[in-house]
Amino acid sequence: MNSPRTFVFYGPPGSGKGTQVELLKKYLKEKNPNREVLHISTGEILRRIIKENNSQTIKKTADVMAKGELLEVFVPIWAWTNFLIENFTGDEHLIFDGVARRAEEMPVLDGALKFYERKDCFIVYINVSDDVAEERLLKRRRNDDNRDEIKKRLNWFNNEVKPHLEYYKNRKDYYDFLDVDGERSIEEISQDIISRIN
Ligand code: AMP
Repeated sequence: MNSPRTFVFYGPPGSGKGTQVELLKKYLKEKNPNREVLHISTGEILRRIIKENNSQTIKKTADVMAKGELLEVFVPIWAWTNFLIENFTGDEHLIFDGVARRAEEMPVLDGALKFYERKDCFIVYINVSDDVAEERLLKRRRNDDNRDEIKKRLNWFNNEVKPHLEYYKNRKDYYDFLDVDGERSIEEISQDIISRIN
């Protein structure tokens, strides 16, 4: 794996997406110690900004996030493009996480990847059923993980995100779409992803 890779992760809450991102980062760092991995997580970037900034935009952003709803695209686009513009030097592996959730955001990401002339772009979709996602989230028992909240978050994934993954499937010449069975052990899922990106 000599050339830089680009990964765009998708999966409903409870899919284990975050864990798989961390395992992929670890693998890439071990495999290519000389190549940095830039992890672009819209949620993480926004949570950091919320701690530091109290502007009207950020207050409204925090409200939407607290309600577990999807933001209007201009906010996530601003967050991740700004992060890329400031941090990307050109050689890193890129892992996008929580980027391009709404359909309108997908062509923006697509344009950015083409602007940077990224090759070897993988869409990693961690596929789990609603029942499994719900069970896992209930076990995790974070504050926002009550049943209504969970249903709402699964609904937006199923209604607003999942149907639009066709965008990438229709661009097979540019994107390798990995539909990953997420109902296995953490290790099995990770090995599966790794075996399909080499
Ligand atoms: P995450 O940490 O990825 O679960 O993101 C936390 C919250 O930020 C989500 O529940 C949404 O409210 C919001 N968010 C993050 N990324 C996006 C996006 N690309 N489009 C719309 N809303 C987003």
